[in-house]
Amino acid sequence: MTEPEYKCQVCKDAGVVHPIEDGKVCYDRTIPCQCMAETLEKERQERNLRLCKLPADTEDMTFETFDTYGNPSLIEALNYARALADRTDEVRWLTLIGKVDRGKTHLAVAICRRWMERGTAARYAFVPLLLKELRDGFELEGEQSYRLKMNFLCDVGLLVLDDLGVERSTSWGLEQLQTIVHSRGINGLPLIVTANKELDRICGDKNEDERLASMRISSRLQRETWCRVMVLDTGEHRLRELKGGK
Ligand SMILES: [Zn+2]
Repeated sequence: MTEPEYKCQVCKDAGVVHPIEDGKVCYDRTIPCQCMAETLEKERQERNLRLCKLPADTEDMTFETFDTYGNPSLIEALNYARALADRTDEVRWLTLIGKVDRGKTHLAVAICRRWMERGTAARYAFVPLLLKELRDGFELEGEQSYRLKMNFLCDVGLLVLDDLGVERSTSWGLEQLQTIVHSRGINGLPLIVTANKELDRICGDKNEDERLASMRISSRLQRETWCRVMVLDTGEHRLRELKGGK
């Protein structure tokens, strides 16, 4: 009888092999064959990209395309962003504060992309949509349920909260944000926050709920040695000029 032709001679196309430990084959366990590694890696990256939910048309938002225009605060922000993306223990939380069009989202997306290149899960969230997503989760089950979504936001390797404070705050929404930030703080899990309000009124200051949430979240965002807060202090008109009036 002739052997059928296999693409992979190692696993005979089974995709798995028995591991070898201390020179002995472990017949009671299997591990993916080397021929599967590439496929699995690709699948993992695709899965991570889906889970991350990056905004559309942000493929070009990478570190390489981030222009600092020689501006000191943008240079410093880029350095911190790279440090976070490279998973140095020095920077685990990065808060970027600045008006629109300062490159906050660009840096946040670039960090996510670098993070996922290494095969680690990340989640990008535009805060107003995130709160809606969580609210909708009350009526859904399984992976879409409120509880699982909340667990994911608290536990995922890297979380971006983009545009904190632009949502119309409800005390429920503020509570969710505080829970997420607090939980990630306790576990020292990487977090990026962008906002266009100063730190001490990051969640707004229109009512008591907003003022309390702002106080708690801003103190959290600065508490640990691995927290960095950057105010992107670029003259608005100057930057517009440099960007060609966009
Ligand atoms: Zn194989």
